[in-house]
Amino acid sequence: MNRNPDCEVVQDLIAVCASGKASRASVRLVAEHVRACPDCRRRYEAALHGLPSWKRARLRAETGPRDPSRRYMRWSILALGALSSLLCMVVNYAVDLRLSWSWIVFGAMLSSILPVLVYTQAYTNRFIKALGCFSVLAVFQLGVIQAVLLDMGQPDVWLWRVAVPVAAVWLAVVWMGIVTAKLRRLNGFFCIAIILFLCLPGDVATGAIAAAYTGGTLAIRWFNAVCYVVAAIAALVMGVLFEMRSGRPQ
Ligand SMILES: [Zn+2]
Repeated sequence: MNRNPDCEVVQDLIAVCASGKASRASVRLVAEHVRACPDCRRRYEAALHGLPSWKRARLRAETGPRDPSRRYMRWSILALGALSSLLCMVVNYAVDLRLSWSWIVFGAMLSSILPVLVYTQAYTNRFIKALGCFSVLAVFQLGVIQAVLLDMGQPDVWLWRVAVPVAAVWLAVVWMGIVTAKLRRLNGFFCIAIILFLCLPGDVATGAIAAAYTGGTLAIRWFNAVCYVVAAIAALVMGVLFEMRSGRPQ
């Protein structure tokens, strides 16, 4: 039994924290204490064990050792992105006396920096959240490119006829692979194999969209098709070997 009165209070609070009903002040108090007290830290970890993974990750992040590099990294990424965008805008304005192509740079910065920020800030499912953020921003970026080209006097509107459909096809390919792998708890090689197999219909769909846009006929690129299938089978074999080696405990 623990004689330290602080520890006794904290151990009562740990149960409340694990139930998810603790106030922020209680969580903070437990956090301060378990950072310095290995015994309470052990009890705390044991209490967290039964929680769903996202709740556990959040509580662990609140009570774990403080990581100043996380904050520092967020601000440096933002500052560098803002600085490069600003630089491009200044050059753009100096040359053209108005902003045109630098909007594309700004959009590209945004769609690469925000997913990285999401990845560094998220506690769970970081990759999926970052990819979700990127998917939305990628379509937004296509809109920016189209708007800038229209503004620069190019009359062709390809956004709805080509860019968005093609982006949707390839985002669907990637998302279907990742969601299937996640739901069925498949390893990364199987995930890559699914995506590679889906590249086959993705490639045909892209060809069809391009043919409809240019008014040409749809030609199936057999060389690409063979490459996708061979690469997919290779990934599948790697996945099977990985499963055999790891022995699949669950
Ligand atoms: Zn303690």
